[in-house]
Amino acid sequence: MTPDEALARAAEAGIHRLPIPTPFAVGRVNCYLIEDSPLTLVDTGPNSGKALDELEQQLGERGHAIADIELVILTHQHIDHLGLVEIVTQRSGAEVAAIDVAVPFFENFADDAERDDAFAADIMRRHGIPEDVVVALRSVSRSFRAWGAHARITKPLHDGQVLELGDRKLEVQHRPGHSPSDTLFWDSERRILIAADHLIAHISSNPLLSRPLDGASERPKALLTYLDSLARTRELDAEIVLTGHGDPVIDHRALIDDRMAMHARRAEKIFGLLAEGPRTAYELAQALWGNVAVTQAYLTLSEVIGHADLLIRDGRVREIDDGRLVRFEAQAPLGG
Ligand SMILES: [Zn+2]
Repeated sequence: MTPDEALARAAEAGIHRLPIPTPFAVGRVNCYLIEDSPLTLVDTGPNSGKALDELEQQLGERGHAIADIELVILTHQHIDHLGLVEIVTQRSGAEVAAIDVAVPFFENFADDAERDDAFAADIMRRHGIPEDVVVALRSVSRSFRAWGAHARITKPLHDGQVLELGDRKLEVQHRPGHSPSDTLFWDSERRILIAADHLIAHISSNPLLSRPLDGASERPKALLTYLDSLARTRELDAEIVLTGHGDPVIDHRALIDDRMAMHARRAEKIFGLLAEGPRTAYELAQALWGNVAVTQAYLTLSEVIGHADLLIRDGRVREIDDGRLVRFEAQAPLGG
């Protein structure tokens, strides 16, 4: 099956991809219209006039208006996916469904986004990122926030719950990692999985270090969480995986195996660097990629820390915290 055939199959099942423009490097975001009862929109796209125009136009091509939407489902907390939710619900009166653990986040968007930034700044400082980069990134993040929006969740979803639409049942699966709120929707009868950014064909879904939704203060192990979630997704007998960006995934097991092998390789590379001596995550990122653009600093840091977490889990690396900076150190091999 080609990606176009997969999209045609999804369309026959009443699920239509609506690629909506974003101002971000990732390009368009895929929203999905499910022509069922209730008329359902999965994700809304970012809060911009351009995104709104295209959403209206693409819904119009299928004979619908924004006012017709009866249910909005949010797949996760990232602003490219949810920014228009306020406008869509104002115009339509639609219900809004999202995973229960993230309801406070969605409802307190601005405050929680500010807390997220403070959390990220603290992690960056402790892992050696220079202060000027930390400050620059915070202002970039503040300026991006206008593309987000707060959402009043009228239908909190629970992991494992079955969401019944007129023509189909969607099993709700909370699969955190890319973000703490990633939620998949699984139609086992049609073997179609709506996975948003949990799995993307053309890019690896970076497990970003995010502030834990339960307010825990311990640093989250985003990559470990993500790999656990991927392993569970691998078990699904899916034929088509509809993703948050780009084309559908056809052979999700092969793609998940590729991603797992890639993460293992990257961890090995970091272990090689640590064998030369202890380093901060920032030093590791510089050794791997040189001086990256400021906007990529948090991404690369998340990536390095994620792979260090893999090595720590396997007992090959330990974390040394001197109260100011965190460094990673290779463990002497046992008996060596
Ligand atoms: Zn996304």
